[in-house]
Amino acid sequence: MSANHYDVIIIGSGAGGGTLALKLAPSGKRILILERGGYLPREKQNWDTTEVFVQNRYVSKDTWHDKDDKPFQPGSHYFVGGATKMYGAALFRLRKEDFTAHRTADGVTPDWPISYDGLEPYYTQAEKLYNVHGQRGEDPTDPPASAPYPFPPVSHEPRIQELTNSLKRAGYHPSFAPTGILLNEADAPNSKCLRCDTCDGFPCLVHAKADAEVIAVRPALKYPNVTLLTNACVQKLETSASGNEVTKIIVERDGQREAISGDLVIVSCGAANSARLLLMSSSEKHPRGLANGSDMVGRNYMFHNAIALVALSRRENPTVFQKTLTVNDFYLRAPDYEFPLGNLQMIGKSKGPMFREDAPKFAPGWTLDQMARHAVDFWLMGEDLPLPQNRVTLNSKNEIQLHYEFTNQEPINRLRKQLQSMLEHLDLHPHLIPNNLYLGKHIPIAGVGHQSGTCRFGTDPKTSVLDVNCKAHELDNLYVVDTSFFPSIGAVNPSLTAIANALRVGDHLLQCLK
Ligand SMILES: Cc1cc2nc3c(=O)[nH]c(=O)nc-3n(C[C@H](O)[C@H](O)[C@H](O)COP(=O)(O)OP(=O)(O)OC[C@H]3O[C@@H](n4cnc5c(N)ncnc54)[C@H](O)[C@@H]3O)c2cc1C
Ligand code: SF4
Repeated sequence: MSANHYDVIIIGSGAGGGTLALKLAPSGKRILILERGGYLPREKQNWDTTEVFVQNRYVSKDTWHDKDDKPFQPGSHYFVGGATKMYGAALFRLRKEDFTAHRTADGVTPDWPISYDGLEPYYTQAEKLYNVHGQRGEDPTDPPASAPYPFPPVSHEPRIQELTNSLKRAGYHPSFAPTGILLNEADAPNSKCLRCDTCDGFPCLVHAKADAEVIAVRPALKYPNVTLLTNACVQKLETSASGNEVTKIIVERDGQREAISGDLVIVSCGAANSARLLLMSSSEKHPRGLANGSDMVGRNYMFHNAIALVALSRRENPTVFQKTLTVNDFYLRAPDYEFPLGNLQMIGKSKGPMFREDAPKFAPGWTLDQMARHAVDFWLMGEDLPLPQNRVTLNSKNEIQLHYEFTNQEPINRLRKQLQSMLEHLDLHPHLIPNNLYLGKHIPIAGVGHQSGTCRFGTDPKTSVLDVNCKAHELDNLYVVDTSFFPSIGAVNPSLTAIANALRVGDHLLQCLK
């Protein structure tokens, strides 16, 4: 066998690809991970707000274009571990109802080809693997689970505990946000996680966040049969003459192109970049792009309707690690509205430099740091619908063009009003400040953190790209395991579902590799 041939090649080392590598590692098969980025440098700037949020130190230099061809810089992160290096580690399961068609304000979502019960064992494995802290039974929308969370919930600090108590007194059901960090509150001196104020949206300097590099890629590399090539950007997948299998992977490293081959090829570049790679891999047998006979590759792009809101409290909010609380009372409906509104959760505690744009408008006379000291920060998330016209295409330079029209806006606006009216009854200033610097971007679609859905899985090759095992309908050895496979996005953060699905697909691949 040639040195450039592997049993399995995984392209992309984030939540999907990194997790799959670890799942397959014990098989002893030769596994190659190709990652376009390098290791995220461990440096003091990891925890520097200005460097991370204002200078965009860890954001890719990519240029994407909107539907009118206007260029923008997407909030994408190309490192070993993918976007999980920067994520907030809120590791929610989708709700059971998300797996079946349901009505929303703007239309009906599609059925998933698997049920919640089919994915449940993998959610349990995913929570164990990614060290999820949480508590079942408080959130009325919690789906059934076969095991408790592996770790106790991350405790609320006093200000958030007060908020929780007030919400409970007002009849709501606040609960602990499920969180993947390596925190041991019972033995703080020996805990890897320091419980600091630079977690959500920052890389973890001490490698205590349960990201895909720490949890999956590094442990996978302990196996002698697993190899990682960094700064290895895959440019094209070529097929056999029949077009039925991928036979060559063209990789660019240090300006040089080389060809590598694998029996099984797993694409996991993130939803937009996976679509890009397949579209760039068109050939005589696949004229519209690889695996794209259905013309579905790139379509149904979703990224959530999300609002980061800051409530200015009359009192200072000294909370350090704020992302411990979530409220799902409006996830399925509201008392005065029959459609789902979405999820409320906290985000990382804001800091002065993040307010550079909003402060003068909203709090004249206040310093940025003063605003941050009084801020209580929320993240509101609603479902956007998978629409065929919301899609990734490529321009003549093979840059991503993101055609996206917002959908389902009424529910997220109602959720915002709902939160505002709840806060009016609590000790928080009623006027909320939109914190549009949270992802460091000015153009809403540039906040691509939750991108999903460009290669949906399904049973019908006419309406989906992947089959139920996430294998491309049209190819025998090509799989996709990032968030591209989502047929709909629900209204909770996507990573745990991508991780659980990678473990599920991993079980299938282990059978194929026997
Ligand atoms: C600031 C921020 C906060 C977030 N917070 C949360 C949260 O709290 N909870 C949650 O669930 N989710 C959160 N997310 C989203 C989460 O990080 C993603 O949903 C998740 O990482 C997606 O996994 P993936 O495998 O699809 O893609 P990624 O993790 O992005 O991995 C894709 C990988 O492919 C590589 N790649 C791309 N193209 C190529 C190529 N051509 N060749 C080789 N390699 C390539 C990339 O460099 C990357 O490493 C957050 C995201 C951001 C940006
Ligand atoms: S809170 Fe813990 S996991 Fe998060 S950045 Fe700080 S030390 Fe790392």
